[in-house]
Amino acid sequence: MENDINTDLFVLQSHLEGMLDRVKLNSTTLHRFQAFEMRLLNLNSLAEMIDHILDDARHYFDLDVISLCLIDEKGEIAKYLNDDGYECHSKKGLILLDNKNLLLSIFGLTIHPYIGVYKNAKCDEFFSGFAEKPASVAITPLNRRGKYLGTLNLGSYQTDRFSDTMATDFVDHLVSVVSICLENNLNFETMRRTSFVDSLTGVNNRRFLEQRIVEELDRCRRNADPISCLFLDIDYFKVVNDKLGHHAGDRVLCAVASAIKTQLRSNDVLARYGGEEFVALLSNINEVMALEIAERIRKTIQSLHIKLDEDSISVTISIGSSTYLPESSAFPGESDISTRLIKLADSALYVAKRNGRNRVENGGVVSEKPLFGKVAAS
Ligand code: GH3
Ligand code: MG
Ligand code: MG
Repeated sequence: MENDINTDLFVLQSHLEGMLDRVKLNSTTLHRFQAFEMRLLNLNSLAEMIDHILDDARHYFDLDVISLCLIDEKGEIAKYLNDDGYECHSKKGLILLDNKNLLLSIFGLTIHPYIGVYKNAKCDEFFSGFAEKPASVAITPLNRRGKYLGTLNLGSYQTDRFSDTMATDFVDHLVSVVSICLENNLNFETMRRTSFVDSLTGVNNRRFLEQRIVEELDRCRRNADPISCLFLDIDYFKVVNDKLGHHAGDRVLCAVASAIKTQLRSNDVLARYGGEEFVALLSNINEVMALEIAERIRKTIQSLHIKLDEDSISVTISIGSSTYLPESSAFPGESDISTRLIKLADSALYVAKRNGRNRVENGGVVSEKPLFGKVAAS
């Protein structure tokens, strides 16, 4: 009798210890999850978010491999990441797909995850970057408002870590949070870019230029590199509008902006400054080189035949150039250099207009003292 009671007590005690262990484990998992989630929600960019998922989630959740597959039909995600200097093609575990066929072929139109043992046909594409394949996986579609965004793919070397009988609350919750953050970050990246782009011509706008010029000047000062600025204005543009209408004028603006862009390097900044005026910022370009580039642009525009509905039209542009040489400044930290660099190019443009248009004029190097609008005539 006493023996029976002792045995029951022993069994009860070991049950209790087991339960306490599970509570402890759940509580640790919950804390880890909350820490991961808090950090995820506080990240400010797509790149940071991807890094947090691919580099940190493994440790938070005791996983052996993790990959993130994103649908990037228009190449926007790759562009956003590349623009920020993120090497998305060499990032282990990041898969960008240019269509959703792979996901549709595996998940169909349903969005249930695949949780279970690793199967080559189903799983290879999602873990292609990893030499050692996991033994069990959870491949979970990310979706938001009915739109497939991609999949989050968790893998373990243990066969029984992910099984089709396991409770999926944790995975479901993780996937929901990642989907929301992904959607937010993508929206934010799109908004960040569209607010810096001129909607008519597709080149950057003045706000973007004003932000970038400060960064570029800092960089040039640090490296003692020259920087040049071109102020470009279409000649007699009002006549185009008056004769052919505003719509034709818009098309001329777009064609001119695209043609200028072809003559610049990809890291140069081209912004629509106002109506029919553009500013190009040329890092690492000295006075002589800037004049050569300006002359090349002028000739390109002059020989451009812009197709309109029935016929085509040609226009010319006038260009003013200015340059800043960091070592020539007595006040390297001066904040108004950007204003003076643009003003000097604008003044040179005015000289080009006065001297007959369809020409380039050199405003020279930004002086150490403010110019008060004076420009050296060339
Ligand atoms: P100049 O050679 O001295 O530069 O002469 P201009 O006619 O080009 O210069 P002006 O400043 O007299 O006229 C600029 C014109 O540009 C007037 C304005 O209606 C037109 N414009 C400004 N923004 C737009 C636009 O977005 N679309 C169109 N179609 N026209 C625009
Ligand atoms: Mg004009
Ligand atoms: Mg003008």
